[in-house]
Amino acid sequence: MTRADTARSDAQAAARAAVDTRRCTELAVAMVQCDTRNPPGNESSAVGVLTDVLCGLGARTEVFEPAPGRISVLGTIGDGCQPVLLINGHVDVVAVEEADWTLPPFGGVLRDGRLYGRGACDMKGGIAAALEAVRACQDAGVDLRCDLAFHLVADEETGGRWGTSALLKAGRIRADAAIVPEPSELAVGVAERGALLAEVTVSGRAAHGSDPAAGHSAIADAARLVQAVHLADFGTAPHPLLGSPTCNVGTISGGTMPNIVASSAKLRLDRRVLPGCTEQQAVAELEAVLDRAGTDIDRRLEVLAFIEGSEVDPGHPFVRAVRDATDDGAGPAPVRGLHLGTDARFLRNRLDIPAVIYGPGSMTVAHTADEYVPVPDLTVAARTFAAVYAGYGR
Ligand SMILES: [Zn+2]
Repeated sequence: MTRADTARSDAQAAARAAVDTRRCTELAVAMVQCDTRNPPGNESSAVGVLTDVLCGLGARTEVFEPAPGRISVLGTIGDGCQPVLLINGHVDVVAVEEADWTLPPFGGVLRDGRLYGRGACDMKGGIAAALEAVRACQDAGVDLRCDLAFHLVADEETGGRWGTSALLKAGRIRADAAIVPEPSELAVGVAERGALLAEVTVSGRAAHGSDPAAGHSAIADAARLVQAVHLADFGTAPHPLLGSPTCNVGTISGGTMPNIVASSAKLRLDRRVLPGCTEQQAVAELEAVLDRAGTDIDRRLEVLAFIEGSEVDPGHPFVRAVRDATDDGAGPAPVRGLHLGTDARFLRNRLDIPAVIYGPGSMTVAHTADEYVPVPDLTVAARTFAAVYAGYGR
C-alpha cells in the first residue's frame, strides 16, 4: 500500500465511524412525513427539509421547477474543480391505499428497529443515508477530493418527465460517476430491465351467441394472443444478472353480453426487455410473436410507454470502488440486476455516466402497504456512502 492509499483508507475508516444513526433516522423520518405522493406530485412539500439539510452541509442549493410545483432540489458541495460524484434520488412516492395500512403512511413511525411510511425505503431512507454520510465526512474532518452533487428530484415514479429527464433536457447533469440510492438490499445494482407497456385491440364480428360460427370471436383470438406472449421465447440470450425477457398480459377486457359473439377485446401487456433493446426492436419482436399466434387475427398494437433498460460494466472501476466501500469486514457486497427501471437509465444511456444503485431496504417492500426500511440498513448504507465520498477523487 502506498502512503496515499493508506491516507485514503484512514479517511474512509474515520468517515465511516462518524456516521450517526439517530441523526440519519431523524432525517429519514422528517422526509417520510412530507406527503410527496405522485400523482399529483407534491414534491414541493419536501423542499424545506431538503434545502435546510443541504444548507447545513454547506451546499449551494437551487430549486429546479420545470412545471409549477414539480420541484427538484439541487445541492453542490465543493469548489467545482474536482471530479463530480452525483447522488440522484427521487423525492416523490407512489399512492397509498389507506385501508391497507396498519400505521399512518406519512407518520414516520419507528417501531421494532424499522421506520415505517410511504417512501421509507423507496427512497427517502436512501437519500437520508447519502446526506448523513456528508455530515459524517465533515465531522471526521475528512478533506474530500471530489465535489458532491445532490439531485433530489421530482417525478421518478411516473417516468421522470418533470425530474431527471427534465434536468437532462436542460443540460443540468454533469458528473463523473453517480449513485442512485434506491432500495437494493445493500447490494450494488449495475443493470436493470426496461419495459414496453402496450395495448392490443382485437377486432371480430358479432353474431348471436347461439351460433358462434356465424360471427368471429375477438375474445377467442385474444386468448390465442395471450397464450402466445406468455409462452414466447423472445430469442434473446439470457443476461447474466437479468435473465430472459418476459411478457405478461396484465389486463383483459372485451365483449358485451354472454349471448353475443364478441366483436372487440383489449389486452394490456408489460414486456420486459434487456439493456440495449430499443423501442423499435421491442415492438418488432412483440409483433413477430403476435404474428406467430395467427396472421388471420385482426389486431392493432398501441405503445403506452417505453422505458429502456440500462447497465454499467460490473468491472468498471467505480463499481469496484462502491463495492469496496461496502466492505465493513465481511467482504464486498454482490452486484445485482434489477427487474425494474430507475432514473439511473438516463445517466447511463444518455450521458455515459457510470451509475450504480445502492441503498437500504428492499424493492419487495417498496410500493406496498406498511412500507418500511430497517434502521440498521440506514446505518450500513450511510457508512458505505461515507467511505465512497472519502475515497473518491484524485
Ligand atoms: Zn424508487
